[in-house]
Amino acid sequence: MIHMKDVNKYFGDNHVLKNINLDIEEGEKVVIIGPSGSGKSTLIRCMNRLEEITDGVAEVYNVDLTQKNAPIQKVRQKVAMVFQNFNLYSHKTILENITLAPIKVQKVDKKQAEESGMKYLKRVGLEDKAHAYPAQLSGGQQQRVAIARALNMHPEVILFDEPTSALDPEMIQEVLDVMIDLSQLNITMVVVTHEMGFARSVADRIIFMDNGSIVETGTPDVFFSQTENQRAQEFLSKII
Ligand code: ADP
Ligand code: MG
Repeated sequence: MIHMKDVNKYFGDNHVLKNINLDIEEGEKVVIIGPSGSGKSTLIRCMNRLEEITDGVAEVYNVDLTQKNAPIQKVRQKVAMVFQNFNLYSHKTILENITLAPIKVQKVDKKQAEESGMKYLKRVGLEDKAHAYPAQLSGGQQQRVAIARALNMHPEVILFDEPTSALDPEMIQEVLDVMIDLSQLNITMVVVTHEMGFARSVADRIIFMDNGSIVETGTPDVFFSQTENQRAQEFLSKII
């Protein structure tokens, strides 16, 4: 699904990804944790070429993302992304927000996009908000809409970049509950988060990054109880 080998990424002189080797299988749920600035966002943004790698191999569904003429729109339709700040269109209704890309990019018939959109709004518990505008919704509700929007592209992978870190504490769980529900599907999920309860219950694999490198990877059981990596231990002691 996602294959990265010896990936390096620089922003100017700043070496932000260092020899990343990572393979993610179909349906896998991977949680990426690590201190701020360690390269987590950059890594997942390289998975749909929101960022370009400097050198190494990056393939998604056998598409080589380093090729200038790679069919990147096709990749982005399979690899959806949910951002920290929801990124909804404020002047469009909720239903318009979640049908826009299917209609415009995927050329799905409007009625069909609305039908599936309503199905996903129902899945995230917001079918009654279809005709509201984003500003009329709470942050937690807006993020649930953003997840429904991702689902309405029928992606094979969803990348989540700290989806709950912009939310008030009382809204975090409703978004995590939606993500836990999605984890039942066969969609591959790559989630950057500091929510360790979620990581424990959903992740097949935890990846710990520090200073641009993957320094530890393992199942939640092994990672949380047995990591011997000192940076990982320090990190965990601060957030658990
Ligand atoms: P994290 O998500 O783990 O907090 P990031 O991937 O956002 O880390 O950032 C890793 C490093 O890359 C940081 O030093 C950050 O300042 C730098 N960086 C991230 N995005 C950019 C950018 N668009 N331009 C320049 N530097 C960037
Ligand atoms: Mg980040």
